[in-house]
Amino acid sequence: MTAEIISGNEIAQQLRSQLFTEIKSLAEKDIVPGLAVILVGNNPASRTYVKNKQKACEKLGIDSRLIVMEKSATEAELLQVIEKLNADPAIDGILVQLPLPSHIDETNVIEAISPSKDVDGFHPINIGRMMTGQDCFLPCTPFGIIKMLESIHYSLSGKHVVVVGRSNIVGKPMGQLCLSRDATVTYCHSKTPNLKEFTKQGDVVISAVGKTGLITRDHIKDGAVVIDVAMNRDENGKLCGDVVFEEVKEKASYITPVPGGVGPMTITMLLYNTVQSAKAKI
Ligand code: NAP
Repeated sequence: MTAEIISGNEIAQQLRSQLFTEIKSLAEKDIVPGLAVILVGNNPASRTYVKNKQKACEKLGIDSRLIVMEKSATEAELLQVIEKLNADPAIDGILVQLPLPSHIDETNVIEAISPSKDVDGFHPINIGRMMTGQDCFLPCTPFGIIKMLESIHYSLSGKHVVVVGRSNIVGKPMGQLCLSRDATVTYCHSKTPNLKEFTKQGDVVISAVGKTGLITRDHIKDGAVVIDVAMNRDENGKLCGDVVFEEVKEKASYITPVPGGVGPMTITMLLYNTVQSAKAKI
């Protein structure tokens, strides 16, 4: 079996053109969605992520406001900026680019963002609402993966999903979104012995670890759906995931590539959440 590729680029493009139409009709009501992005310090990877988010906003007609703060900025200074943005009616979404410098407490910062502008879906109130099945902003990467599964009309109900990785922003919410769609969920992490004994049972395997070559053909059962969240660099500096794509694609039914898989979906869901936030003003 050779897997069908789930193209994040294509699905993201379709979603973005739907968003473009929604943004145009918001403009008729004098509403322009606004996203504030705060970057603290000069981390080159973070700068690239922020630039990509801004470009995506510009293309769609979302007003993006970049706030760059010195690496030495204090937590109090950052909290003050967030407070102002919380009160700014032109801003529908606030995103603080992670990671933050080590002297700033990430939890305090996330909790300072108004839950109604937390378009990343990281605030404990949004996480709690997600856990209890209430309306909320869903975290962008897991939300994007759900959209990818929907695009192939894959029903999670009754399926066994194995999530590798348990971070607060990807692994944990990913499992929760699958559980709420009636999947049976197994979480694996760095202390899981014999990883492949678990992943081999998965109808769906979602890998969000950050280790090149972690998931091989031996980790996957025939016909599984394989979603690779990771963004790693191989020995030649080329972008790659956790999954050994060339061999796993011969065993899986569907697979996501890196690049062009989950990555473009994450940014798209950020735009989506920002537009939903702006629509709440109507
Ligand atoms: P993270 O916070 O570092 O979490 C990594 C997880 O992997 C942890 O739960 C860790 O377990 C687990 N792990 C480490 N070694 C393992 C092993 N040998 N076997 C099984 N599990 C293992 O990372 P993250 O923020 O979730 O991101 C994960 C990857 O996704 C990274 O490559 C990141 O760049 C990528 N990412 C991509 C997107 C996108 O849009 N495509 C978005 C976000 C993240 P412990 O909890 O036990 O330490």
